[in-house]
This record gives sequence, structure tokens and C-alpha cells, in this order.
Amino acid sequence: MKIKNNIELSKISSIGIGGTAKVIYYPETLDNAKSLFKKFGRNIGIIGSGTNIVFEDGLHTRPYLSTVELDGLDERENELFLECGYNSSKLVELSIDKEISGFIPLYGIPGTIGGAISGNASATANSIFDIIKSVETINPDGSMNIENEFTPTYRNGNIRNFIYGITFKKIKGRKEQLLKEKYLIVEKRKNQPSGRTCGSVFKNPENNYAGILIEKAGLKGYRICDLEISKVHGNFFINNGKANYNDFIEMINIVRNRVLKLFGIELLLEIKVFKR
Ligand SMILES: Cc1cc2nc3c(=O)[nH]c(=O)nc-3n(C[C@H](O)[C@H](O)[C@H](O)COP(=O)(O)OP(=O)(O)OC[C@H]3O[C@@H](n4cnc5c(N)ncnc54)[C@H](O)[C@@H]3O)c2cc1C
Repeated sequence: MKIKNNIELSKISSIGIGGTAKVIYYPETLDNAKSLFKKFGRNIGIIGSGTNIVFEDGLHTRPYLSTVELDGLDERENELFLECGYNSSKLVELSIDKEISGFIPLYGIPGTIGGAISGNASATANSIFDIIKSVETINPDGSMNIENEFTPTYRNGNIRNFIYGITFKKIKGRKEQLLKEKYLIVEKRKNQPSGRTCGSVFKNPENNYAGILIEKAGLKGYRICDLEISKVHGNFFINNGKANYNDFIEMINIVRNRVLKLFGIELLLEIKVFKR
């Protein structure tokens, strides 16, 4: 297992913000991962591809586990088993090639499949949980569970422990239909901003859209130093250079206060904040 010291977290997080991690472990096998939980329990922080995390600046002394080397795939007759670090975009393309249905909701979502399951990520109204058979999790003491009953909610898979592996149902699809579904998402995402972001900062409130509320509050294009609320989509913050954690927190507070004052709606964070 690789172990790296003094890693710049801004290079891991897609928005490019964060201090230094004293140590990051990169397990390559199930046993590697189990041993880390046996040693550190809940104290170890879990990182996938860092596309939904904003790290605090300064030195993070707690250990981190990166899942990116746990990227095995095992195709079986009626199911597909994936380790948590498998890349979600690669999985979507593979499912189209092999004509397997149900993975298109992950189209255009960067990151690992473990991160997607943890946050019940989706680009459509459908959930990836619709095609999950079971999830192998590692408890904080290093023991394992196989879970097959789930209660996912909006942007929360509600799985408490480390997601090691996922077994999906292998449902036959037709390439033509899958490409059609993909095309609909491509069209929908045309207004997605480019640049260094962590995706949607806030969850959409019930029957509303955070991006539209932020736009109506007149905050599109608002800047704090190098951090900008995208001119294209109000729910995306863009790091144009050297934005830092304080800029990010200040921006969050400004947006939340303005939206609360104008519309009486409290915006909740979709992104995860990892403090030192
Ligand atoms: C440009 C852009 C567009 C995006 N579009 C969307 C979208 O349309 N829909 C959407 O839902 N999201 C979207 N996102 C957010 C993000 O890509 C997803 O949430 C993604 O699934 C996170 O995966 P990750 O591997 O990067 O997880 P990370 O960001 O590394 O981690 C996110 C959380 O998951 C936990 N986690 C990660 N792996 C595991 C594991 N194996 N076991 C337990 N916990 C784990 C982490 O501890 C953390 O709390 C977007 C992000 C970007 C940058």
C-alpha cells in the first residue's frame, strides 16, 4: 500500500482549495483497507476523487484514506462488482459499450463510484440505488458487512460505514436507448460552467433550485478575491486562481444570508467541508 506524506489537498480537491495532509494512505486491497480501519477507526478521513469536498487550509494531522487505487471490476453473469474507487464516468461508458442499463444517471458526474453511492449522486431524477444489489462495507473496527437494504435520500446514500465494494444488477439495455438517455443529459448540462469547481455547492430546496434563488438574489458573478459565483450557473463557485478556505466560507455565508433574507429559504450544503 502506498503511503504519502505532506500532500497538498488543493491538488486533490477539484475546486483547488485546502491545506496539507500529513499522511494519506492508498489501500490497494480489501485487507489494506480493513487494516487501516482496525488501526484508526472513525478517525480516518475518506477521500474519493475529491470532487465534492472543500478542505480547510493549514495542516490536517488526522490520517486520510484515498480510495483511488481500489478500482477493481469483476463482471459476472448477472451482476457487476466494483471496488469503490472505480471511476463513475468510466463506468457509464463501459455500461454503454456492454449494453447494461441503469448507469446513465451518473453521466457527467466526476469522481468515484464510492463517492457517488455515499452522496446518492445523480444527474437525473433516477437513483443509482435502483440497480444496486448489495454493498460491502467496512466497520470502524475493521470487520465487514454486506448490506442489501437501503434508504437513500436526496444527495445522501445514508450508508454509515466505509463503502468497499458495490454489486450491481446487470440489466440488459439497448445501446441506442442508452445513447438517447445520455444525449438528454448532455443537453441539460450544456449550461454547466467550466473551471475549478466542486459541483453544486447547495442542495436544491424542495420545489426550488438553489442556482435560481442565487441568481434572483443578484449574486451571479459575485467575487471574493479569486473565488467567483459562476456567471453561468448560480450554484457553482469557481476558483479562478488562489481562492482559499476562508473565501469559500465567507461566500457561503453571504449567499445563505441573502437568500434567507430575500426568500425565507435556508440553503443547506451539498458539498462536504473537511476541517483539520
Ligand atoms: C463539475 C462537477 C459536476 C458535478 N455534477 C454533479 C451532479 O450532476 N450530480 C451530483 O450528484 N453530483 C455532482 N457533482 C459532485 C461530485 O462529483 C459527486 O458527488 C461525486 O459522486 C463525488 O465522488 P468523489 O469520488 O469525488 O467523492 P469525494 O468528493 O472524494 O467525497 C465525497 C464524500 O463521499 C465520501 N466518500 C467517498 N468515497 C467513499 C467510500 N468509498 N465510502 C464512504 N464514503 C465515501 C467522502 O468521505 C465525502 O464525504 C459534480 C462535481 C463537479 C466538480
